[in-house]
Amino acid sequence: MGCKNCKKNPVISRRYSGEVLCKSCFFKSFERNAQKELRRQINLLIKNSDIKIKKIGIGLSGGKDSTVALHILKSYVGKRNIQIIGLSVDEGIPNYRSKSLDCASLECDKLDIELKIFSYKELIGITLGDLLIEKPPQGSPCSPCGILRRRSLNQMANRSNVDCLILGHNLDDFAQTVLMNHARGDIARLTRMAPHKFVQKGFIPRLLPLRRLPEQEIYLYSILKEMKFHDGDCPHAGEAQRNTFRYILMELEKKQPGTRHSLVNGMEKIRENISKPDDLTPCPKCGEPSGSSEPCVFCREFASFGA
Ligand code: SF4
Ligand code: ZN
Repeated sequence: MGCKNCKKNPVISRRYSGEVLCKSCFFKSFERNAQKELRRQINLLIKNSDIKIKKIGIGLSGGKDSTVALHILKSYVGKRNIQIIGLSVDEGIPNYRSKSLDCASLECDKLDIELKIFSYKELIGITLGDLLIEKPPQGSPCSPCGILRRRSLNQMANRSNVDCLILGHNLDDFAQTVLMNHARGDIARLTRMAPHKFVQKGFIPRLLPLRRLPEQEIYLYSILKEMKFHDGDCPHAGEAQRNTFRYILMELEKKQPGTRHSLVNGMEKIRENISKPDDLTPCPKCGEPSGSSEPCVFCREFASFGA
């Protein structure tokens, strides 16, 4: 079967939509999807919070998702008078992160974009590798790592004076998080998920242009576009709690193509009925925005490391 538009040889068959596309039609469709999502998210933020977008930060890991997001952002900005800055977090994971940060740095050089790197060592005085030895987590290493990454990115984004922060989360990541929050009955967290529609004091809103594009398509796009990215997993990736949800979703998607998109659409419907999330309050210890008046999870968990 040829491409549905031009009958050329196909590079992809999308089970969730039934489309078969050749390389150039795939590029067009992929870029249209990501650009539309980015434009919509930025416009909502401008409308709801009455802000001007002058500088945009992008979280860069050097992996395929954030590398593709960077190219999408670069072409969105085009001739607009908006500055882009790359923000990377170095967790201090031996034999992994430095290789991927080299890729992020190369890509930024190529596109003439400034890149700032912030490490867990700077944040709490210790690398993730050493932290896991000194304070072994009860569950997966991804729990402390996630808390530290959110914190690092928000601090970097605030210090860099960006108006919003782009992240490369793909459809699979996003649908897994929606499902995880549902499974835990954590509707409050579901409503607080990015993409953020409002600016909250001290918290830089996060936008996700790739959230409707499956991971496999992002991989295909980056390969066909010959992008340079780091194609390796963190050594702790196998321990992440979300792997169970990844497996369940893959099975669901096989039996019922389109499940991931339905989860995204369902979440949007829930959020449409919520006018504005509760304001975040500053943590009484560190002042960073937090969901309660108690010390934030960072202060509770990492105070002993000089936080
Ligand atoms: Fe951190 Fe887990 Fe991601 Fe590794 S897989 S970088 S430990 S969150
Ligand atoms: Zn705190």
